[in-house]
Parts: sequence; structure tokens; C-alpha cells
Amino acid sequence: MRNSADAVIVGGGIIGVAVAFYLALQKFGNIVMLEKEPILGTGATSKAAGGIRAQFSSKENIQMSMLSEKLFVSFKEATGAEALFDQVGYMFLLKDDAEVASFTKDVELQRSLGLDVQILKPDEIGQYAPHVSLENVLAATFCKDDGLGDPHEFLSGYDQAARRLGVELAHSTELTGIKMAGNKITNVKTNHGDISTPLVINCAGPQAKLIAAMVGAELKVAPIRRQIVTTGELSFIKPYFPMVVDVRSGLYCHKESKGMLLGWADKAVEESFDISIDPDYTDVILEKALDLMPQLEEAEVANQWAGLYETTPDHRAIIGWEPSVEGMFHVVGFSGHGFMHSPAAGSVTSEIITGKAPSIDISSLSPERFAAGIEAKETNVI
Ligand SMILES: Cc1cc2nc3c(=O)[nH]c(=O)nc-3n(C[C@H](O)[C@H](O)[C@H](O)COP(=O)(O)OP(=O)(O)OC[C@H]3O[C@@H](n4cnc5c(N)ncnc54)[C@H](O)[C@@H]3O)c2cc1C
Repeated sequence: MRNSADAVIVGGGIIGVAVAFYLALQKFGNIVMLEKEPILGTGATSKAAGGIRAQFSSKENIQMSMLSEKLFVSFKEATGAEALFDQVGYMFLLKDDAEVASFTKDVELQRSLGLDVQILKPDEIGQYAPHVSLENVLAATFCKDDGLGDPHEFLSGYDQAARRLGVELAHSTELTGIKMAGNKITNVKTNHGDISTPLVINCAGPQAKLIAAMVGAELKVAPIRRQIVTTGELSFIKPYFPMVVDVRSGLYCHKESKGMLLGWADKAVEESFDISIDPDYTDVILEKALDLMPQLEEAEVANQWAGLYETTPDHRAIIGWEPSVEGMFHVVGFSGHGFMHSPAAGSVTSEIITGKAPSIDISSLSPERFAAGIEAKETNVI
């Protein structure tokens, strides 16, 4: 491992590798990426449902997604790696007037930013998502350009391309401390020795606040457990089934292999690093899934897992310089949307760090926004 670097990236999940790739593409200099585990992508990235969508309520999230979707489409051209962005679409089912009003307002904002989103009547839903119960459904929003991807295909593509561009990956290497001279970062300490560096890029996902605490900073990123269940093969699922979200129940589902992936966010779960599977959580997912798709009666559970969302108080990422020290940049707090936002996050971070004007104005995602009070909360979170 080098003992000196122009930048040290902490965390080899999808965000760390995307930042490494785009920064190396800008010819930034010597970059070392630290990953405490023996292989990359075993944290939150390995737990993601693979959803990629631009239907958000906040301007920055819509723009981050639209840029990311463009970069997912041109991924092979940029990295040389094969990774499929399967644009099967994303549908939100709306069951009362308040949901319809709120999503109609979001659609207006999304369309004003150039997104092609439809509002479907109940009788138009079946053509995209047959077998979904239409009981109480008043309308749905649908964006055909949204879809699904395998986080590991994209992680591996970014990793290989970043390493070809000279990034050094130090796996099984944990950041254990950060040294400063006054207010300025000078060195990082790891279980394999020190690296002198003026710049630490925090991409530690659910562990992000632990990295910030090493320089005495408080970062508002809470690890919160979420669970997923997958089913065995189902005879009735057609090849192009979109991601479907029942806004009222919070259940989301999409085609996974020859069955379905089912997920739900239990908003009552408290902050912790616990990723054990709670059987009661699984039962609620299955109950909600049966309400949404009665034909799932024939389904068998194939797999289930728990992972951590990295949640901020306003459900928007934190991207920007740590105000309390010189030399720390955060790319964290994606609140369950870090896979879909990874290309934009990597690209915009590389622009800011190399002193260029960012392609998206993300000044409202700065770490200091919370001190001034939360302004724009992202409301379309699952
Ligand atoms: C159940 C579930 C479903 C999800 N579904 C989706 C979805 O459909 N779409 C979507 O976009 N997102 C989804 N997400 C969110 C997405 O998985 C995360 O936002 C994203 O993976 C965050 O990536 P990351 O690289 O920041 O974090 P991680 O993948 O956790 O990577 C951080 C890395 O930092 C390493 N690290 C931590 N501390 C240190 C240290 N001290 N030294 C060295 N290394 C360290 C960790 O080992 C880890 O590998 C989901 C998450 C969960 C849990």
C-alpha cells in the first residue's frame, strides 16, 4: 500500500468505487481506496433491491437520478464493462386523494425538469403490471425510463475501470483514525499502517458518522435496518414487470430471477447496526404482498435478508466538504437510494473536488444544512 496519496477514499461500496472512477477520470492524482472487508461491496450495496428511479419529490433527487440514468445507459462506453440497466419502468399506486394530490404535484416538478412521467387511470395499470390488485387504487404514476440494475455488475465495472486508471484498492484495510495538524488533515491510520494525505473522502455508507467522528465532526447519518424477501419461481410473472410501489402500505416489489422481490420499510425500526432477520418483519412483508398481489398465494420464500439504510433527517444525501475541518469530503446519507444515485454522486463529487462547476447544483445537500433547519424534505421515500 502507498504511504502517501492525494486522496484516500474510505469505503469500497458502490459510492466509493463510483467516486474513485470519476475522480481518476479527471486525472486527480494518487488515489487509495480503503475497504475494511476482504472484498468490495459487502455492505449496504450487497443488500439493495436494485431499483433505479427518478420519481422523487425534491429537485436535487430528481436531477441526481436523471443524470445517473443517463450514466447507467452509457456505462459500457465509459467503463468498458457490461452491466444491464433494465428499463422496465417504476410505478407508484395511489389510493386516496391526498396521495394523488401529492404525487400530481411531484409529477409537475418532474416534468418541468424534463422527465417523461405518466399518470395512469386504474384501467391503464394492467397493461404494465398485470396481477396487481386494483382495489381502492385511484391512479398510478409511471415512468418508463426508470428500472432495475444489479449493483454488483456496476460496482465491479467501476472498480475495474478505476484500477485501470491507477486507483489503488487496499482491501482488508480499515481506517482506524485520522491525524490532523491544527484543523488540517495530514494522515490516516489503518490496520496496515499510515498514509499521509491532505484529503479523506467519506464513502462509508451506514458507518459514515463513525468516520466523521474521527475528526470530531457530527454527521447526521443513521443506520436503520430494512428487510427483503424473495420468492421462488412464479408461473404468472411476465418478463417485463416493472417495480411497483404501493404508496399506502409501503410495499414494493419487482421481478427477480423467475420470482418476485418484496420489500417494505418498517418506519418504527430504531437506529442501530443490527442486521439480523426479524421474522415478524418478514411476516408483515408477506401479508402486505398478498394484499397487493393475491396470486402470490402460490409463492414460496426463496431467500430473505436484512441490511442498513443510511438515513438522514430529510432523506436526502449529504455531499460536500465537512465544515469543521480542512480536508474531509462526505458522499453519504443516500437514505436508501445510493445505488441509483451512485453515478451522479461520483461524477459531481469529482467535479467539485477538482474545482469544476458541478453539472448539478447540489449546494443544498451540504452537511451544514441541518444546523440551519431542514428545508426541503424528500417525501417520496420507501
Ligand atoms: C434492504 C435495502 C434495499 C435497498 N434498495 C435500494 C434500491 O432499490 N435502490 C437504491 O438505489 N438503493 C437501495 N438501497 C440503498 C443502497 O444499498 C445504499 O444507499 C448504497 O448501497 C450505499 O452505498 P455505499 O457505498 O455508500 O455504502 P456501502 O455499500 O455500505 O459501502 C460502504 C463501505 O465502507 C466500508 N467501511 C466502513 N467503515 C470503514 C472503515 N473504517 N474503513 C474501511 N472501510 C470501511 C464498509 O465495509 C462498506 O463496504 C437499499 C438498501 C437496503 C438496506
